[in-house]
Amino acid sequence: MKNETKCLHSGYSPKNGEPRQLPIYQSTTWKYATSDEMGKLFDLEASGYFYTRLQNPTNDCVAAKIAELEGGVAGMLTSSGQAANFFALFNICETGSHIIASSAIYGGTYNLLGTTMKKMGIDCTFVDQDLPEEELAKFFKPNTRAVFGETITNPTVSVLDIEKFARLAHSHGVPLIVDNTFATPINCQPIKWGADIVTHSTTKYMDGHATGVGGAIIDSGNFDWMANADKYPGLTTPDESYHGIVYAEKFGKLGYITKATSQLMRDLGSIQSPQNAFYLSNGLESLHIRMERHCFNALTIAKFLSENEKVAWVDYPDLEDNKYNALAKKYLPNGSCGVLAFGIKGGRDKSIEFMDSLKLCIIATHVADAKTCLLHPASHTHRQMTEEQLIEAGVAPDLIRLSVGLENVDDLIDDLKQAFEKI
Ligand SMILES: *Cc1c(COP(=O)(O)O)cnc(C)c1O
Repeated sequence: MKNETKCLHSGYSPKNGEPRQLPIYQSTTWKYATSDEMGKLFDLEASGYFYTRLQNPTNDCVAAKIAELEGGVAGMLTSSGQAANFFALFNICETGSHIIASSAIYGGTYNLLGTTMKKMGIDCTFVDQDLPEEELAKFFKPNTRAVFGETITNPTVSVLDIEKFARLAHSHGVPLIVDNTFATPINCQPIKWGADIVTHSTTKYMDGHATGVGGAIIDSGNFDWMANADKYPGLTTPDESYHGIVYAEKFGKLGYITKATSQLMRDLGSIQSPQNAFYLSNGLESLHIRMERHCFNALTIAKFLSENEKVAWVDYPDLEDNKYNALAKKYLPNGSCGVLAFGIKGGRDKSIEFMDSLKLCIIATHVADAKTCLLHPASHTHRQMTEEQLIEAGVAPDLIRLSVGLENVDDLIDDLKQAFEKI
């Protein structure tokens, strides 16, 4: 099946007389006839459901659909994109580990890696993702355990050279984790380019309607944990909390997701609610159609802004003169996403004045959903960052992040025009 068809049919195929639409298993627990049957589940000797903190059938169907869309072998849903990125990394890192991450990643992930995980003794070096391979190689240390980046960064819409990062990670015996939230598997499948693990904030385009916060982790099954056993004791040595199971041995290509589910979910919670997984499932059914329109509208607006004399600059990878256009053509040939960044002449104050003059485009701490919205990262999502960190992350003080929705693009342009007239 092509991805368009997978959006509709993967993950759940009802048998004769079963519901056409994915049921919401709104149940915390499952019933078993004998104590022994349930005991086997706790020992990971049999697979099955027993408690929704670890696994739920609604979630698993949706995770399977996303895994198929990404070309991975297994997937899981989390309560948020933040939880997805934390679990994806914490599954293979521990106190004393080191991560290399692009400095242009989403502000929330930047805080997670730079502040919260640091308190757990996991260090992160933030790097300029555009540096040449030889320069980036210098940041690896003996305790480096993962490399992390975003296909298209939020909010600077920089495109990651996935092949370059995969080569670097693999030549140092560590996996590449790519947050594919903005591109979605419709526009890019990082696994095809060498990424080992893909994460998502499903809150964005996948849900698509701003209804439910959620995340997903997909494993390609390609990284050989046993070949790098000394680096990943969590996967390659016995887990005493499961009677000595060695995940990478017992579950092979499914070891990484099995560990994240049966150990991290068990201990830390953070599963997506089945109700939200259902909304997500509905969103996924039209993802391919929506992405096409998001990209068309965003490119039309990017061109309109580029020609406006009150606009200082526009960043959108699909514009021919954009710094990332060559990478976008390679990794995102069908379009990048509906998000673009731009600044207004006159700097920060004028940008805010402009935003406050819009009527149809609303100010919202959201991105990548059906309705056009915008935000000023320096005053909102990246508010905690110092000027220096803002510059390092490439977030100009006048940067406006515009998330272009599915409206008729002429109506959006009319709204932008009337706001330009007011400043
Ligand atoms: C929003 C976002 C996240 C965090 O996801 P939540 O669902 O808000 O927790 C992570 N990565 C990227 C690229 C995002 O845009």
